Amino acid sequence: MTQVVEPRTESRRAARGIDRVHHWIGGGPVAGTSGRHGPVYDPATGRLAREVDFASAEEVDAAVRAAKAAFPAWRATSLAKRSEILFRIRSLVDTHRADIAALLTSEHGKVPSDALGEVARGLENIEFACGIPHLLKGGFSEQASTGVDVYSIRQPLGVAAGITPFNFPAMVPMWMFANAIACGNTFVLKPSEKDPSASVYIAELLKEAGVPDGVFSVVHGDKVAVDRILEHPDIASVSFVGSTPIARYIYETGTSHGKRVQALGGAKNHMVVLPDADIGMAADAAVSAAYGSAGERCMAISVVVAVGGVADPLVEAIRSRLPKVRVGPGSDPTAEMGPLITREHRDKVATYLDSGREQGADLVVDGRDHALFRDSDGFFLGVSLLDRVRPDMDCYRNEIFGPVLEVVRVPTYAEAVTLVNDNPYGNGTAIFTRDGGAARQFQFEANVGMVGVNVPIPVPVAYYSFGGWKSSLFGDTHMYGPEGIQFYTRAKVVTARWPDPGTSKVDLGFPRTR
Ligand code: NAD
Repeated sequence: MTQVVEPRTESRRAARGIDRVHHWIGGGPVAGTSGRHGPVYDPATGRLAREVDFASAEEVDAAVRAAKAAFPAWRATSLAKRSEILFRIRSLVDTHRADIAALLTSEHGKVPSDALGEVARGLENIEFACGIPHLLKGGFSEQASTGVDVYSIRQPLGVAAGITPFNFPAMVPMWMFANAIACGNTFVLKPSEKDPSASVYIAELLKEAGVPDGVFSVVHGDKVAVDRILEHPDIASVSFVGSTPIARYIYETGTSHGKRVQALGGAKNHMVVLPDADIGMAADAAVSAAYGSAGERCMAISVVVAVGGVADPLVEAIRSRLPKVRVGPGSDPTAEMGPLITREHRDKVATYLDSGREQGADLVVDGRDHALFRDSDGFFLGVSLLDRVRPDMDCYRNEIFGPVLEVVRVPTYAEAVTLVNDNPYGNGTAIFTRDGGAARQFQFEANVGMVGVNVPIPVPVAYYSFGGWKSSLFGDTHMYGPEGIQFYTRAKVVTARWPDPGTSKVDLGFPRTR
């Protein structure tokens, strides 16, 4: 099948912008043989930067074979040794933060400060997994019955797979593989085909850290690779992060093939602003959370719910901040917001500005007025603000995933909560208020997986777990943190006794503990 490429070339290739991103199978780069590939753009210039191999089913099979072969030795590797390797991964990712961030900027378009933030939040997950000896401790009940002890252990599943989105090409894989391999699984990653280089760079770092060949592989591609992962009999679990329609498909197909699946989907995150909130603070938070990473974050604030009399001053405070948001390429050190991922996506985002206006919203700021939208070949769109949005409008009903902030005006707190809870998504939400009782009530009744109180992007730290409710997550466990450990292991309960010889007798009764 495979042509083996000289190791350590992948990152250099990416750094020099040379043509093809290869798979990483069995501990080294492997050139694709399917004859299929896809484009990888530099979103800031609009230029084709390189191409990425698209795996065939046979190439996925090769990665799974390598992962299956590596599993017995890896699961038998002591916790101390696995932990030591994770500490080394931690150190290498830390050392190479800037390199990883540069790859993110070059293929995703996010500005360097944002890219470094992504790496830092990903690193937290590796740090969490360094504590695997503690995390895998089971329970022990001495003398559960006379002379009988009962204890529980958690064991790895086997080959775990991860399928990840374009918007966090380094952090989301780290959400998955750090815990997966720490628990003793081997891992096959299918990253987004839009910005694939970071995953291969990370594979190189893992190898350098001492992760044995086959424990971590990367196959690039599209639906062909994904479908093979979902059907492959030797893959035990699938972790997915992406849009809701695909998440639902992954969950339904993966579980129908007997796999354990966690599939995180899209979002429409509401930030409720009560009349007593500090207007300046709420406006700063809304602007930061709506337009950071050009709104291409699953935890971006896309809807501000302005309660009562706060609406006019809040919209004015947001509007007044927008001319100061610096849009530009990652090469501009003053840029705060970069381009969108592709031209098609940028143009689709812009259609919601027209449909919003046609359906009765006020287009307070139109990102198409930005010079970079008009004059650059990059996939830029300026920040946009739609006021007086209603829930029946297309711009509200869809996840836009771009630099568009919508304001919905409601008269009361109760209507704000109803709006949040009626939305089909339930990833994140936030409330801005000085009233602790109102905030506590909101936390109690919001049907949403992650809630911020005066915090607009409440992404949990790595020792909690990340996940939405409703159409933002299919499956039973949230991702990373303690629920990640649970997902990547299965429980075994042992009941043991060591009776003296000659003390047994035949007893057909159901075993009793008393
Ligand atoms: P996407 O669903 O288009 O793609 C995600 C992954 O699925 C990619 O690896 C892609 O190659 C694969 N894929 C795409 N179409 C497929 C198909 N028809 N069949 C099989 N596989 C397919 O998502 P995206 O555009 O890369 O990422 C943006 C989306 O991800 C947004 O909806 C965002 O909200 C969501 N997201 C959610 C979270 C979360 O934690 N809930 C985090 C980040 C992103």
